[in-house]
Amino acid sequence: MSATIIDGKAFAAGLRAGIGRAVAGLAEEGVTPGLAVVIVGEDAASQIYVRNKVRQTLAAGMRSFDHVLPASTGEADLLALVGRLNADPEVDGILVQLPLPGQIDPQRVIEAIDPAKDVDGFHPVNAGRLLAGAPAFVPCTPLGSLLLIKSVLPRLAGLDALVIGRSSIVGKPMAQLLLQQDCTVTMAHSRTRDLPGLCGRADILVAAVGRPELVRGDWLKPGAVVIDVGINRVPDPAAGEGRTRVVGDVAFREAAAVAGAITPVPGGVGPMTIACLLRNTLQAACLRHGLPMPAL
Ligand code: NAD
Repeated sequence: MSATIIDGKAFAAGLRAGIGRAVAGLAEEGVTPGLAVVIVGEDAASQIYVRNKVRQTLAAGMRSFDHVLPASTGEADLLALVGRLNADPEVDGILVQLPLPGQIDPQRVIEAIDPAKDVDGFHPVNAGRLLAGAPAFVPCTPLGSLLLIKSVLPRLAGLDALVIGRSSIVGKPMAQLLLQQDCTVTMAHSRTRDLPGLCGRADILVAAVGRPELVRGDWLKPGAVVIDVGINRVPDPAAGEGRTRVVGDVAFREAAAVAGAITPVPGGVGPMTIACLLRNTLQAACLRHGLPMPAL
């Protein structure tokens, strides 16, 4: 194994510690950032994720407002709650956990959030600002991925970057961020021809697909920086019948023998997502109170 393993867990812990110090500094100005998290229904993965968010929000010294609604909640009731959170002066950031039950249109809910409190960065105003190169709330997973890339590659200008996956929450904003760093960006998706050939030319590869170990080691350019966003649960017969384990979109062992640096799954991009959510909440609080964003 030759690649540097990028320790997202340690990087995220450092980022959260910096956020905690900044929040303590804001308290002296009488400001305590507040994050409202709304979850509708009983999706098990979402509940674990939301519990982690609440725990880490409180640990950073922020206020956490937790709204757990039944799966039968109607769209109008959820929109009314979003309206109340928009108007609540104690709330700096609003996050509505996706996916939502089928009776609710997620886009309508995202568009109801005040763009100044849209710490997920999913509102079209923030997506448009990112596209225009204007200050914006940047979606947390691509923002965290960029921080990890820059931890091993401080200068990205001119490098060839490949983003696999074109979702609005990961792939598209990731491509924009890399473009802002002056990379030459290629986007691949389910209809792309010759994915292995594209991978072979990439100095930076970000996989955000949701297909276990799709990207093979012998597809990679030697020395490439590989960011694996995928979270896939697969059977793990070696651990016992019915047991599962989590793997990424990249065949880790093979890839680590070729890449220059690679994120593991778990322990790579995953921990960065919540840390960046806290970072965005701090940014929202500073903006709303006319304070400068502290250096982290
Ligand atoms: P998505 O399903 O919205 O998008 C997947 C994308 O992959 C699509 O654009 C599709 O065109 C592309 N794709 C599908 N099959 C392909 C193939 N064979 N070759 C090339 N491209 C293909 O998924 P998403 O929400 O962007 O999430 C992607 C993965 O990242 C999932 O595993 C998800 O669980 C994970 N994820 C992780 C975090 C985190 O915090 N680490 C956050 C968000 C998503």
